[in-house]
Amino acid sequence: MASLHYRLATPEDLAAASRLVRQVFDAQVAPLYEAEGCALFYRFIEPAVWAERDRVAPRTWLAFAGRKLVGVAHVRSGRQLSLLFVEVGRQRQGVAKGLLGQIVAALGAGPLDVHASPNAVAAYERLDFLRLGAEVAESGLRYIPMRREIRPDDNDGLPPPPVAYAARVPFFAEAKDLRPVGRDVQGREARLAPAAALAWDQMSADALREGVPLLLVSAFRSVGRQREIVRRKLESGQALSEILKVSAYPGFSEHHTGCAVDLAAPDGPPLTEAFAGTAQFRWLSEHAHEYGFELSYPKGNKQGLAYEPWHWCWREGLAPESAP
Ligand SMILES: [Zn+2]
Repeated sequence: MASLHYRLATPEDLAAASRLVRQVFDAQVAPLYEAEGCALFYRFIEPAVWAERDRVAPRTWLAFAGRKLVGVAHVRSGRQLSLLFVEVGRQRQGVAKGLLGQIVAALGAGPLDVHASPNAVAAYERLDFLRLGAEVAESGLRYIPMRREIRPDDNDGLPPPPVAYAARVPFFAEAKDLRPVGRDVQGREARLAPAAALAWDQMSADALREGVPLLLVSAFRSVGRQREIVRRKLESGQALSEILKVSAYPGFSEHHTGCAVDLAAPDGPPLTEAFAGTAQFRWLSEHAHEYGFELSYPKGNKQGLAYEPWHWCWREGLAPESAP
């Protein structure tokens, strides 16, 4: 299964988002509503109406498995979670939790309210929402008011990532299944997702055989570890906008997918642009793609991140599992 990743929606995404929401709604919610309630809901998710709500500030998050859209969340003005829909075949696999993680990071501390349809109450309870009162029936809709308090420590006290950053840089799910791939340059046990580990073993062995040893500086790094890194930098007085030029916001790094590696040459300082002048970089530029690895952040990358000639990612781990 391709890994999950998340990002803010653009206006162009809303037609597809609307289709997915409609499919799930028709299967799971519409039977509980009167015709009037369904009509209200369909009006609410019309792409043009939706785009108008998102015009001031984008408040729609999408979940993808590879390139396939599998989940949609939308926060209406204020702190009202008004849509949280996951493709029927993908429910209870952490997609809603991942979307909620994005919202928690974006909104920061405070209440998050939802009008849960009667058959979604259990799902919201699993996401730490509490019932605020009895079922309400109005305008052909039925819902139970629920709330989740977003605590300041929900994101370990980090300020939310800038909206433009969250829109440009994809958010990835954390790998659960990892395999050791030997020691990194500091002697720590390095780990990668199993398929990425296999590709890395082959690539590094072939490079070594051709006289180009690839030193592993860093492989899997947990979201928690990334949070520590960013928090320490904030505590040392750096501005978040400066930090994000060189460190990913927790959740936005490829390293916690278990598919990314930072590499160095034996004779060069690690993690500097000088790596682009090494035999290692030349070998990778020529051969890495044969093993499924790609440079994630070339010069002028569309994520707007710093050039990182040392950071290579096994693309198939993040790749589409089906055409969009
Ligand atoms: Zn890296």
